[in-house]
Amino acid sequence: MQNKHIGFIGLGQMGAPMARILMKSGYQITGFDANTCTDSDISMAESTHQIAKQSDIVITMLPDGAAVSLVANEIIPLMRDGSILIDCSTIDVKTAQTVGTYAHSSGIGFLDAPVSGGITGAAAGSLTFMIGGDAHILQQVLPLFETMGNKAVHCGAIGTGQIAKICNNMILGATMIATCEAFDMADKLGLDRQSMFDVVSTSSGYSWSMNAYCPAPGIGPDSPADHGYKPGFSADLMLKDLGLAIEAAQMAGADPRIGQCAREIYAAFVETSGKGMDFSAILPWLNANKC
Ligand code: NAD
Repeated sequence: MQNKHIGFIGLGQMGAPMARILMKSGYQITGFDANTCTDSDISMAESTHQIAKQSDIVITMLPDGAAVSLVANEIIPLMRDGSILIDCSTIDVKTAQTVGTYAHSSGIGFLDAPVSGGITGAAAGSLTFMIGGDAHILQQVLPLFETMGNKAVHCGAIGTGQIAKICNNMILGATMIATCEAFDMADKLGLDRQSMFDVVSTSSGYSWSMNAYCPAPGIGPDSPADHGYKPGFSADLMLKDLGLAIEAAQMAGADPRIGQCAREIYAAFVETSGKGMDFSAILPWLNANKC
């Protein structure tokens, strides 16, 4: 596997540390990013075309479906027969399926493999991958996922990785809002935050939002709340993921009302004061009755 040439397109907050982990594990990595001001320790190509021609495997980590479509249309026609494209971006299900079909018809293997674990997980090589695509393609590139992450779950056909991701993040958005609403309510009713944490984190209201990523500063394990709500996982990205979830739900005839409500709350938060803040900063926003 180490003798395979890997191209990495999209060296932003997530892509750069992921590429670096692969490089440190002995993989030959060539990177490309539309923004030229990226990490100098990764050897850079001049274009996506160069990456397509010289790579056995191309990994993309891009902001949205439009960027993934654009890059896929640039590289797929130039990629070698039998090479593999892995898209780790969080994008809409339809684009993942369209890119997958195009890759397949061009003799290229395709996996949609969005991640959970954020910037810290990317730097530590402890991401969780949720993967859609053929099992035999996944088998060929499994060591890459094992290097960049702790867990790789094969979810099914192309697009199911993205479905798993938006389901997970819809739960996360909704539970973070519920956790923040409970802290705000407890504050206003006169229950101190430490008591609230001690009870809920060991009772049936526990969740990842409360136990691992507590939105109240100074309570629970270290989290963005302890660092002025610097992300972490930004409210903007949560809004993006909730938008993808609602769009996919509507396409499938599902009606996730709590998810829709969470999307509306994050839209209002980002529009008023949440842009660039961690998604847990909903708590001070609620506290100040700004919603
Ligand atoms: P980012 O904006 O930091 O990085 C994206 C990179 O892609 C940028 O460097 C940009 O210049 C580059 N890019 C955009 N269009 C391009 C193109 N056409 N050709 C080449 N490069 C191009 O974003 P990020 O935080 O690294 O997130 C990447 C993806 O991972 C997103 O889909 C996001 O939803 C998802 N994600 C992010 C996090 C997180 O905590 N940041 C967590 C999980 C998943």
